[in-house]
Amino acid sequence: MDVSHILDSLNEQQRNAVASPAHNLLVLAGAGSGKTRVLVHRVAWLIEAENVSPFAILAVTFTNKAAREMRGRIEELVSQSYGGMWVGTFHGLAHRLLRSHWQEAGLPEDFHILDADDQLRLIKRLCKSMRIDEERWPAKQCQWYINAQKDEGLRADNIEHFNDDYTKTMLEVYKAYEEACDRGGMIDFGEILLRAHELWLNNPQILQHYQKRFQYILVDEFQDTNTIQYAWLRVLAGADNQLMVVGDDDQSIYGWRGARIENIQSFNTDFADADIVRLEQNYRSTSTILNAANKLIANNQGRLGKNLWTEGGEGEQISLYEAFNEQDEARFIVDRLQDWSNGGNRRSDAAVLYRSNAQSRELEDALLRVGMPYRIYGGHRFYERLEIKNALSYLRLLINRHDDTAVERIINVPVRGIGGRTIETVRQVAREHNCSLWQACVECVNQSLLTARAANSVLAFLQLIDDMAKACSELELHEKAEYVIQHSGLIGHHEKEGGEKARARIENLDELVTATSSFDEPNIEEEIDLKSNTLLAAFLDQASLDAGDTQADETDDAVQLMTLHSAKGLEFQLVFLAGMEEGLFPHKMSMDNLAGLEEERRLCYVGITRAKNKLYLSHAESRRMHGDVNLCRPSRFIKEIPKELIDEIRLKTTINRTAPAFGQNGKSLGKSFSKEAEVPDTEISLGQRVAHGKFGEGVVLNYEGTGSNARVQVNFDAVGSKWLVLSYAKLEVLN
Ligand code: ATP
Ligand code: MG
Repeated sequence: MDVSHILDSLNEQQRNAVASPAHNLLVLAGAGSGKTRVLVHRVAWLIEAENVSPFAILAVTFTNKAAREMRGRIEELVSQSYGGMWVGTFHGLAHRLLRSHWQEAGLPEDFHILDADDQLRLIKRLCKSMRIDEERWPAKQCQWYINAQKDEGLRADNIEHFNDDYTKTMLEVYKAYEEACDRGGMIDFGEILLRAHELWLNNPQILQHYQKRFQYILVDEFQDTNTIQYAWLRVLAGADNQLMVVGDDDQSIYGWRGARIENIQSFNTDFADADIVRLEQNYRSTSTILNAANKLIANNQGRLGKNLWTEGGEGEQISLYEAFNEQDEARFIVDRLQDWSNGGNRRSDAAVLYRSNAQSRELEDALLRVGMPYRIYGGHRFYERLEIKNALSYLRLLINRHDDTAVERIINVPVRGIGGRTIETVRQVAREHNCSLWQACVECVNQSLLTARAANSVLAFLQLIDDMAKACSELELHEKAEYVIQHSGLIGHHEKEGGEKARARIENLDELVTATSSFDEPNIEEEIDLKSNTLLAAFLDQASLDAGDTQADETDDAVQLMTLHSAKGLEFQLVFLAGMEEGLFPHKMSMDNLAGLEEERRLCYVGITRAKNKLYLSHAESRRMHGDVNLCRPSRFIKEIPKELIDEIRLKTTINRTAPAFGQNGKSLGKSFSKEAEVPDTEISLGQRVAHGKFGEGVVLNYEGTGSNARVQVNFDAVGSKWLVLSYAKLEVLN
């Protein structure tokens, strides 16, 4: 058979890897050097050139999206049917094994999978029945502990507690949890991998069967495998099977979830006869982008080290935009995206990447304003996120106690002892009396329809909302939001959960405060303080509209928004890295230890190397977090990129009282670029100090509208931030 089509489109190193006679092979190479391409071509090579049956091939990738893509690419290359080949994620493949061998795996035939939420609920129940102090040992912490042990391949029996209180308690819960899962025929995500590993160890005949079958094993993104995945692979590969792994130590970004960068380093010793192929030519990015990435990552210690070069052109410089604040940043990015789209480019070839989920809100707002379709990967849109919906439900109840959906959502969030039975009674009363759930709650308490305990809990809930409403009645919108988030117990609720996801949820709640503090109702008049509940209602309407606005269809041509973590393995013509600020990226939780900082730097390396042609970096001088305006320092990662690769841009932003100086709907900052941060000597500019007859002195934060509609947001030293109609405000410009 003519197999030239498989090798023709490869360089020499890639060809060596694809056609390698070696038994075990590690392809170690930097971003965009064709690792995934080599893996796909290797599969095709095995089938077409070496006449390997697709049946004998197992390919593992990191996400389901990547697995689908891989199947598609193999299909394109291989003429015959490749049926029988296994391509999937570690979890997907292990699950498939357990379904086939449930008996040997010690599972009932109808075992079912516990997702993370189910798992947490179960652990909570157990902790309660074991009378474990929820304050001291939150269920979420137990969940985190259990999962971390499973990722390391450890069962409760394998762990020594050394009389340590913490470990002792965690182990008790772990044991009880294992028993409960066994009784109920349930397995969680970590258990899938652990069981699949034990399936090998406990059933030599099954292991032999699969060892004989999967003579060719290929793994992409190998740097992010954790202990149990690696162990599973090693056992399956045994002494006889061929293992090809591809990876990049500089792109290991899941250390916080148990991934072990050491796996790549120990591959050599664990698989003694392993060959290493290094790919050094990058095909993805311009030399400018590649240089920036190389220089940045050189700051990490203990790398395996590699050279990465490209024949590609120099391309444009990397643009660095120092935004005035986060809104200015979002506006800048959206303007560039509009230029991109108007220039006849596909929106889906552009991506905005950020460190924290909460950053998407400002970007989403700006995109919605100009009606540009976008997709968010690996996460809900801001106003659809669980924690945000919960907080909004509290706010809704402040204005309307009869909002049943809101009551349903938060009556027992955070947990306040109103169980399923009580809620069912309330619902029933509501049905009978044809009244709202709120009224039904009142009714239930008054008519003693509940147990004394349940009645107390319900009463406490009613009281809580009433008290909140009272306390908030005179507060500003953002103060309301802050008050409700604090006093509802939502922050504490998530704090107890612990872990990365909880951290993200708390950040999102902070971000909601930010959203309210910069929210202004379209027709607000200067100095006429709207009744504050009207503003709240307007905000809630806007939030529902945003949430109801459906995401662009899979088929729509939409801008891609995602966290840096979800961007792994992908590539785009145009990439924005937003929020390049100390504390945000590198994230403050990872900044104070070297390992954490280096993982952040690898994440930055991943981000930069997603770009093919053009990269924008942006940071804001000040960013609102938790309702406060913080001054931000640019990320150290910016400074680690050589100056000559960067073009600093500043847009001239001027606000002029007479001429319409800023664009339609406040979305355009004008297109004149300037390298200097200076502002022409017109009257008012962002950051300008001004004085107002009533409010005193302050700094201009933002602006919107044109001509007589022009409005500015000023942060007054004494009274905080206000939106003012420029033509009425009579601001005096200070030096
Ligand atoms: P990452 O580390 O980001 O996962 P990677 O090493 O897996 O990157 P690929 O995604 O396989 O890299 O390849 C990067 C880009 O370069 C792809 O668009 C791919 O098609 C292209 N490419 C790789 N090798 C060649 C080649 N020999 N000729 C032309 N294009 C190539
Ligand atoms: Mg890849």
